[in-house]
Order: sequence, then structure tokens, then C-alpha cells
Amino acid sequence: MRVNKRMVKACSFLGIGTLVLLRLVAAQQKQLTAHEVVALIQQHVGVPWQAETVDTFKAGNPDAAVTGIAVTMMATMDVLQRAAASGDNLIITHEPTFYNHLDKLDQLGEKENDPVLAAKLAFIAEHKLVVWRFHDHWHRRRPDGIIAGMVHALGWEKYQDAKNDFLFSIPETTFEKLAGELKSRLSTHAMRIIGDPMLKVKRVAFVPGASGFAAETRALEMPGVDVLITGESREWETVEYVADAVTQGKSKGLIILGHIPSEQAGMEECARWLKTFMNGVRVDFVVTDDPFWKN
Ligand SMILES: [Zn+2]
Repeated sequence: MRVNKRMVKACSFLGIGTLVLLRLVAAQQKQLTAHEVVALIQQHVGVPWQAETVDTFKAGNPDAAVTGIAVTMMATMDVLQRAAASGDNLIITHEPTFYNHLDKLDQLGEKENDPVLAAKLAFIAEHKLVVWRFHDHWHRRRPDGIIAGMVHALGWEKYQDAKNDFLFSIPETTFEKLAGELKSRLSTHAMRIIGDPMLKVKRVAFVPGASGFAAETRALEMPGVDVLITGESREWETVEYVADAVTQGKSKGLIILGHIPSEQAGMEECARWLKTFMNGVRVDFVVTDDPFWKN
């Protein structure tokens, strides 16, 4: 808003100085900074903020005024470009930006020497983007924010175990049909599957992301669990374990959705949640594309 002549006249008429008016207008227009947005998230998340966490600023100036928030699963180059094009300068990402869990810039040697990292950093600087990661505390919420969003996307609320949010008793189906349902609901391009397509499935463990061998096998060992659905698994750990179980004639199956499709709806849920208290700031959910394609 500009202070025009008419406003100045009105001010003199009311006996208000132009400076005072300018301050009033500025106060009204004051945009939240990235820091203030994060403080609001910390107030609303409902779990104590941990000292040790990856939920920190990764790039940009946290004191910058926020023009719009882009909530996303992974701050890929493609996501950054689309967020910047629509005028969002605060990126809230579930997964790392710089290719390792702690977003350390020295993992690729001297940062300026790696052409991919250098181009990403340059884009962030050029568009004055601020990147903040929201991983640990979104998972720590009860229910886990990622699981809540995924269950919502699958329409599986009614099948969820009362004591274990990762366990589902679905109406009996075949493994093949279950895989088809996941494919249509989660826009995964190249899921990988181990097990007999005709396997009868009633009990499913869903462990999104990359939870590792211990959590994955623990889920598969739970009584009655026929199929484990996961984001990504090591081929010489869980994949080999399930392949062996199948060879041994055990009724087990594994679906690897891809990390992004396995958690993406959880960040869509995060965008919905942010809109409930982020007044005056635009919140956009920016889809991260599944990077894989199938031959
Ligand atoms: Zn996650």
C-alpha cells in the first residue's frame, strides 16, 4: 500500500502525523519471517522440541519475510523451481536438500566443485529461497503426521490396528490386487514387488520411508502379517530376507513403493495442518515427482 495525498490529507485532518500512519501501515503489512513461521510450528506441533534434530534451516536467511510457504516431500531442484515460479520463498521439506541426512555440504568434497550441488545452491541464492526441514517432529506427533496422511490417502482408517498405527487388517484380497490399489492411490511409477501375486493378504504392515532392516523384519515377523509395504529397502538386507522367506514357502510378500510415494501424502497432510493456524501466509503443497520410470 502506498500512502497517497488523500491519506496524508485525512491524516492531517485527524491530527495524525504521516510518520505514525506509515508505521501503522507497515505494522499491518508486516509479513512473518521464516523464523516466526517455524516458531508457530513449534508452538502447534504438540510434542516437545528436541535439542538434537534435523528439523533446522538448511539454506537461506531465516529472517527473510515469507512470501509463501511451499510444503513438499523432498526439496528437489524441480520442486524448488516450481515453488519459486509460484512466488513461494519458504520451502518446508520432509527429506534432505543436499543428498545426506544432515545436509552437510562437504559430503561431495568442496561444495563449489560439485556441479550439481553448486547449481542447486546458486538457484537457492538467486531466488532468495529459505529451506527448512520438518522431519523428526512431524513423525513424533501422535498420530505420526506422515502415517496419518498416508492412511488418509489410502482410505485405510477403518483397517488400522487400535494399538499399532503401522498395522492394518484389510478385507481379504490377493497380493496382486493390493499392489494395484496402492499403485492407483499413491501415484508411484515403479514399485517393486516380491512374492506370489495370488498370495492371500489380510494383514499388512506399512512402514513408510527408509526404516531399515530391524524395523522392517520386526514388522514382517508380527503374527499374521502377510505383506510389508515400505518406501525403500536395501537389496542385500530386507529384500534378500523376503526372497528367502518366499523360497522357503512362507506366505510373505514385500512391496517397495519408492521413498517419495511412501510418505508424500504425509506432507500433504502437513500442508493441510499448517493452513489451520498459518494466518496471512499462503501455504502450497508442492508435489515431489516420483523420480523413477519403468522400462
Ligand atoms: Zn519420513
